[in-house]
Amino acid sequence: MEYISTRGSASALDFEGVTLAGLASDGGLYLPAEWPRFSEAQIADMVGLPYAELATRVMWPFVEGSLTEEELRSLCQQAYGRFAHKAVTPLVQLDERQWLLELFHGPTLAFKDVALQLLGLLFETFLSRRQSNLTIIGATSGDTGSAAIDAVAGREGVDIFMLHPKGRVSDVQRRQMTTARAPNVHNIAIEGSFDDAQAMVKRMFGDADMTGRFNIGAVNSINWARLMAQVVYYFASALQLGALHRPVAYSVPTGNFGDVFAGYVAAQMGLPIAQLVVATNVNDILHRALSDGDYSTGTVTPTDTPSMDIQVSSNFERLLFDCGGRDGAAMAEQIRSFEADKAMQLTNSQREGASALFTSVRADQQQVLQALRWAHENAGEVIDPHTAVGLHAALASELDPSIPMVTLATAHPAKFPDVVERATGLRPNLPSRVGDLFAREEAYSELPGKYDAVRDFVTQHASPAA
Ligand SMILES: *Cc1c(COP(=O)(O)O)cnc(C)c1O
Repeated sequence: MEYISTRGSASALDFEGVTLAGLASDGGLYLPAEWPRFSEAQIADMVGLPYAELATRVMWPFVEGSLTEEELRSLCQQAYGRFAHKAVTPLVQLDERQWLLELFHGPTLAFKDVALQLLGLLFETFLSRRQSNLTIIGATSGDTGSAAIDAVAGREGVDIFMLHPKGRVSDVQRRQMTTARAPNVHNIAIEGSFDDAQAMVKRMFGDADMTGRFNIGAVNSINWARLMAQVVYYFASALQLGALHRPVAYSVPTGNFGDVFAGYVAAQMGLPIAQLVVATNVNDILHRALSDGDYSTGTVTPTDTPSMDIQVSSNFERLLFDCGGRDGAAMAEQIRSFEADKAMQLTNSQREGASALFTSVRADQQQVLQALRWAHENAGEVIDPHTAVGLHAALASELDPSIPMVTLATAHPAKFPDVVERATGLRPNLPSRVGDLFAREEAYSELPGKYDAVRDFVTQHASPAA
């Protein structure tokens, strides 16, 4: 498969190339040159497969040319063998129509494990082939950092430097990062806010001295391989609910538009998806864009669902490009004007293309707490607040009630115990597999909020490109 950039001027790359590159050199995001499409017979043939085998079938068209089918199968077996549930992403029924797709059975209790566990193995495979090293730099407000660290800890050829704002991530989240204790993992507690840390990371990507010396890579959801791995659980759940004979709808708690874009990809591949509900918290740029075409930023309001507190939703560009006729030059121009004005209007073709599959719902704090209580009182399920944003949107949806509605459960409730307790009176316990988190020794460095300090630290500890 060949991949092209949404901004039209970076050269096309194969799957190995886009996995290691992350962002395209023209600032765009990579997408497959065309969507692979399964026949009904091929989809019918996937019913009942074990997760790793299903993952191999669904992802194969995207990786062909860079991996053999046997290599892909082996990586899927390793990645998904680390999940605590044999089904990897089990479905739970809440009432006649509402379902939860539990995506939090991986090592760090958030859905990001599903993609990052595979990405860590892909990095290792491709880097050993090229005899080169990758230096991953990231900033995290919580979930991404721990999932990325767990995925690459101890892997050959990769060093990871993860910045978190000192004193501003939860104890569980910090310990999930700082107890990894592998020589290639470098946690940095930085003075300042998440935005300060993020700004330093961006600066390093543009620092020619650093990029000349090191192969700097990214693990956020601009990386195509992450989205690809997330397509699989749409297939797994829809097939279980009888798709092909009936369509299925999804409600997806959304921040950077990665997880819900994976649902769009599944639909392009032939999976009968009736609707994708984009569920946002009060940071609702996506809700405004989808309901009236207004994509404009403001300031971030902190909420009980920190992983969805965003202003700019990077992966939305992929949808706009695909719905807008795949015109890279026009996309580059649209983004340039957005960056200048902090606002843009969607074109008619973008609005029409998006509204064929997407709707959106915004949940405020009271509605999130109500949805948490609803799950507990009506179905005996304790859910996390991000999942509750999705469930609120699912319950508010006006779709034909004969269509099953699946809410993606993106985090384990024990990651956010205070909010869960406030809504339900119950304090969820960490699952036993991470139970000794508070007994393990932590390791991290503290640095002042100065770019030079971070740059010097990385320079001292990272391996040169080759
Ligand atoms: C990252 C995250 C999200 C948002 O996912 P996107 O792919 O960025 O839309 C939602 N819930 C949780 C718990 C997350 O960690």
